[in-house]
Amino acid sequence: MPEVLVLGSGGALPSAKRDNTYLAVRGESSVLLIDCAGSPIQRLRQMGVDPTSLRALIVTHHHPDHIYGVPILILGMWLLGRQDDLEVYGPLKAVASVASLLEVVDATDWPALFGTVFHAIPLIERTLVLETEDFRVYSSPVAHMVACVALRIEHKASGAVMVYSSDTEPCDALVRLGAGADLLLHEATGNFQGHSSPRQAGEMAQAMNAKRLVLVHLSNNGADGDEELWQREAREAYAGPVSIAHDLERFEF
Ligand SMILES: [Zn+2]
Repeated sequence: MPEVLVLGSGGALPSAKRDNTYLAVRGESSVLLIDCAGSPIQRLRQMGVDPTSLRALIVTHHHPDHIYGVPILILGMWLLGRQDDLEVYGPLKAVASVASLLEVVDATDWPALFGTVFHAIPLIERTLVLETEDFRVYSSPVAHMVACVALRIEHKASGAVMVYSSDTEPCDALVRLGAGADLLLHEATGNFQGHSSPRQAGEMAQAMNAKRLVLVHLSNNGADGDEELWQREAREAYAGPVSIAHDLERFEF
C-alpha cells in the first residue's frame, strides 16, 4: 500500500517536537520527496527508507522552510554514491531558488556529482507533473504569498489518491484538485494571509469530499500547540476522520 511519511509536521517556526513540514510518498518501487527541510537523509533512515531509492524532489514553493534542506540532501546522496540524475520539480521561482542554493555551496565543483535536472511546473490547474511506476502527480496553483502549488498524487495500481495542500488559504482550485481524495494532508498554520486554520482545513476537506483529513504545518509560533483544540475545530467543519500529524508518523492511502 502506498504511504505518506511525515518527515516534519511543523510550521515555518519549528517547535521542540516538530520540524518544518516536509513529506515522502512511498510506493512499491519509487519514493518521492515533497519539499525539503531539516535533515532529509536522517529522517528517511529513521523511517526505514533507503535514501538511494529517492526518485524525485518536488518543491511546492521557495519559502525557506520548504527548500533549505536541499544542499544537505544533495551532499548526502553524493556521499552515498548516487549516479542517477535527480529530477527536481516546482514553480519556476522555487526551482531557481534550489539551483541558487546549490551554487552557493559550489555543488557543481564536487567530483562526479550526479546531475540535477530542473523542471518548472506551469501555474495551470491540474498540470501533470510527473509519472513513475507507482504514481501520477498533478499540481494546481494555490493561494499563498508566492507562487505555490498543491499536489494530487494518484497511486496507479489501486487508484488511491493523496492530496497535499502545501501552504495556502482556502481556495477553489484546491477543492477541484482534491475532489474525492482518499487522504488529504492540509496545512493548519492558522487563519492568516496565505494560510489556513484547522477549521478552514476541515471546510476544505468537506468541500472536496475527502475521506480522511490529516493536519500538517502546525503552529505559527513554534509552540507545540493544543492538538485537541485543532482537532475539535477541524471536526466542526468536516464529518470525516481527522488526525494531527506528528514527525515520523506514516499514513497509508
Ligand atoms: Zn510558505
